[in-house]
Amino acid sequence: MYKDYQKHLQSEIKDIREAGLYKDERIIASPQGACIKLINGKEVLNFCANNYLGLANNPQLIAAAKEAMDTHGYGMASVRFICGTSDIHKELEKKIAEFFGTEDTILYAACFDANGGVFEPLLGEQDAIISDALNHASIIDGVRLCKAQRYRYANADMADLEKQLQAAQANRFRLVVTDGVFSMDGNVAPVDKIIELANKYNAMVMVDESHSAGVVGRTGRGVTELYNKRGQVEILTGTLGKAFGGAIGGFTTGKKEIIEMLRQRSRPYLFSNSLPPMVAAAGLKMIEMMSATNELQDKLHANTQYFMEKMTKIGFDIKPTQSAICAVMLYDAKLSQDFAAKLQDEGIYVTGFYYPVVPKGAARIRVQLSAAHEIKHLDKAIAAFEKIGKELGVIK
Ligand SMILES: *Cc1c(COP(=O)(O)O)cnc(C)c1O
Repeated sequence: MYKDYQKHLQSEIKDIREAGLYKDERIIASPQGACIKLINGKEVLNFCANNYLGLANNPQLIAAAKEAMDTHGYGMASVRFICGTSDIHKELEKKIAEFFGTEDTILYAACFDANGGVFEPLLGEQDAIISDALNHASIIDGVRLCKAQRYRYANADMADLEKQLQAAQANRFRLVVTDGVFSMDGNVAPVDKIIELANKYNAMVMVDESHSAGVVGRTGRGVTELYNKRGQVEILTGTLGKAFGGAIGGFTTGKKEIIEMLRQRSRPYLFSNSLPPMVAAAGLKMIEMMSATNELQDKLHANTQYFMEKMTKIGFDIKPTQSAICAVMLYDAKLSQDFAAKLQDEGIYVTGFYYPVVPKGAARIRVQLSAAHEIKHLDKAIAAFEKIGKELGVIK
């Protein structure tokens, strides 16, 4: 049978290539950082990692991970509830809750798992999930696994959310779910207004802090800090794979009964291996560092502001952002690809996005700022943008 199936796959893959949607891996031969070395020996400045706080190659996190290997070994070889829970896991869960001002936390192998395992144990067919149209794929998949009735509202559109909440009034329980920061535009969800509407229409709120934790809010405590709503959101999910060190791991943090139920029923927690102790230990070190000083968040915020101001001044069309994601709008799909390729020749590593990842006619280059960037890195990127922008007629 495989011969037929092989032909089928080959033809599908050809279609993907012809549509210009084929994804190649770009191979890096150095640690992740502001300056990375590609497999061909070329060095480039990296502006497309989720390495917001520059911790992916941080010596203190590496030391904490090494130390935990010596004290706790390499792996747990068990799910959490059989024999895969170490003292480090419990400590990290507690510290994450303190960081966000929540009651308890449950760790997962990734945020994809946290989102995949959060809805089905908590809500049934009498209930309603009201989801932002631009929510992350893992939220969409998690919702699919749950029997609750589904409602969708246009991205960050509070009038539409209100309409959906009204439509869901006959349901038993209602949960509004949103990304904290939307990864393509860098816009922050209006969580203050979402909470207001949830209160008005008797609903709970869940925010995925993957792109906002460590980034958004004066001290990087995420969207609930930005809107002064700490402790007022029932469920937060997040990742250890972005600002929080960049390795792997996810979590759900929030009301203690919710976390307790997830420990009983959440399938990615019950049926998937425990985080390696070294990853949990580095996570603990990361929270400790962020509690001792606000240096990295301050630097990230300053870098973002610097980049946005200079780029706007040169004449680029930049989406307003409160995150570390800066969308340089080019609108045309081919232009976004040509621009990104030319930037790479200039030693600047970014990604151009176009339909269907973003709406038709809204192609862009997404720049992700980091506390790992120095002003000289930003200046080099801005100069390259200016040069290519003029060359391609995007700016005058
Ligand atoms: C990256 C991301 C995830 C997935 O996180 P992992 O820990 O890499 O699985 C989930 N939700 C959002 C909004 C994300 O940006």
